[in-house]
Amino acid sequence: MKKVIVTGGSRGIGAEIVRRFAENGDAVAFVYRSDDSAANALAEKTGATPIKADVSVAEQAAAAVARAIDALSGVDVLVNCAGIAQIKLFLDLTDEDWRKMIDTDLSGAFYCSRAVARKMVCAHSGKIINIGSVWGRVGASCEVHYSAAKSGLRGMTQALAKELGPSGITVNCVEPGVIDTEMNGALDEKTKAEICEETPIGRMGTVTDVADAVLFLASADFITGQCLGVDGGFGL
Ligand code: NDP
Repeated sequence: MKKVIVTGGSRGIGAEIVRRFAENGDAVAFVYRSDDSAANALAEKTGATPIKADVSVAEQAAAAVARAIDALSGVDVLVNCAGIAQIKLFLDLTDEDWRKMIDTDLSGAFYCSRAVARKMVCAHSGKIINIGSVWGRVGASCEVHYSAAKSGLRGMTQALAKELGPSGITVNCVEPGVIDTEMNGALDEKTKAEICEETPIGRMGTVTDVADAVLFLASADFITGQCLGVDGGFGL
């Protein structure tokens, strides 16, 4: 039985990751920012422990991880899934837009990884899995701040894999393409059809597609520093 912490676990991709680990019989705690009703419903269904915190704030992220480790009596796997997205022209991006994106999608993963690494180094084992994006690899027009944050996650994944490997810890990144979640709720049917057409596999991704990759990496002992595209070939 693994002890698993998932950030951004109340909805979308994170919620599916929570469900899948829980179905496996693993002990799960998940962090969310605001949606109490979604978090409580998921906790009731899965037995996972919900922890409300904003991972973009260093002290809150560290406290949330400490609470999760306490609830689980340890940690084997951290999945950094909490994230926001925003579509905006580069010239309209404010300093606040930029800071909020980097603080949430990049710094949040740093704060939580640092907090679990202290425990994992002592245990000489552990797995950190970051949820990046295809846009972190190829860049998205009108999502410069999102692409920069997710690209930062790639660099963090590779560097941390080198640094923590000798301590028995693997660090990997899953990079989804366009996945059918609330994050993409604003896409109209025409845009969705265009995305499917541009995707070699011919459809949008599902939360199951992403969770499959995360569960695989959570059980892979000799894979580290990898960025695995789960995008149906969209980023090729
Ligand atoms: P959703 O918008 O459906 O869910 C986002 C989750 O992150 C929610 O649980 C939310 O909590 C939580 N969250 C957001 N900000 C914070 C914060 N500051 N502190 C703590 N929790 C926070 O997103 P998706 O499931 O679609 O995306 C999940 C991850 O996958 C993100 O990192 C995203 O960038 C990435 N991704 C998504 C793709 C997609 O097409 N959907 C494609 C590529 C990558 P709450 O609801 O309580 O606010």
